[in-house]
Amino acid sequence: MWIYLNDRFVTEQDAVVSVFDHGFLYGDGVYETIRSYGSRIFMRDQHLARLRRSGEAIGLTIPIPERQWPALLHEAMTKNEVGQDHNDAYLRITISRGPGGIGLDPALCPTPTVVIMTKPLQPSPPEQYKTGVSLIVAKTRRNLPSALSPQIKATNFLNNILAKREAIAAGAFDSILLNWESQLTECTVSNIFFVRAGRLCTPALTCGLLDGITRDLLLGLARDAQIPVDEGHFGVESLRQADECFLTNTTMEVMPVTRVDGHPVGKGTPGPITRQLHGQFMANRARFLEP
Ligand code: PLP
Repeated sequence: MWIYLNDRFVTEQDAVVSVFDHGFLYGDGVYETIRSYGSRIFMRDQHLARLRRSGEAIGLTIPIPERQWPALLHEAMTKNEVGQDHNDAYLRITISRGPGGIGLDPALCPTPTVVIMTKPLQPSPPEQYKTGVSLIVAKTRRNLPSALSPQIKATNFLNNILAKREAIAAGAFDSILLNWESQLTECTVSNIFFVRAGRLCTPALTCGLLDGITRDLLLGLARDAQIPVDEGHFGVESLRQADECFLTNTTMEVMPVTRVDGHPVGKGTPGPITRQLHGQFMANRARFLEP
């Protein structure tokens, strides 16, 4: 695998970062996970804009000008022979504060570290889309937004990792994190939706969750299909009363959820609105790809 590190492509063996990098010492950095369909990157400008916003939120200037990113991402895909016909690519951009003396002051790190990794995208198994996945409600709460904004896609991911550990221990696909007021927020790497009496519901951003790019796209598709949408504040009981539930993110698209804490959601099978929205997503996907 060729990795872009700072200013050049290096082999995996040579892709090493200093132990003084504040990304390593303090989780001080930001990242984005992106994908392509064939050679065309999905929602490219939205991901790059979010990367810039994450950087701005922590006072980290992304050292590569915005106009250079598309060519760089394509070079990364080409070098690794991914992102060609029928060969979708997974791309991860990581920008850390960079190496510097021990201490929290970002001024210790004059030069951020830039990493771009690409590999073939591993799609979720078709079986999961057919049967749906199971979730638990984690004991770990989502970070308080006033302590660490969920809009910052930070390389400090312990909040989500602790919740993921709970899911793994319970044999579940993933965990739902509640906020400080026991309201639903999101899962460890995805946003959550549910359907109740024909209405599509999803936690509002004010509950403290990442403004997912796929979430936003799905809300638009639902409105196009005239499905009533409620972005609101919901407790765990709303999931118990839901007819359907699903997750969204860039790599999974729309993943049905059929069990929560061991209880079936609705009939315990992927529901019709979940299927309809995933179908609409696939039918409209080309609109959201690079030219
Ligand atoms: N929520 C969290 C915590 C995430 O890490 C992600 C994606 O990585 C998402 C939601 C979904 O975001 P997107 O649709 O932009 O991939």
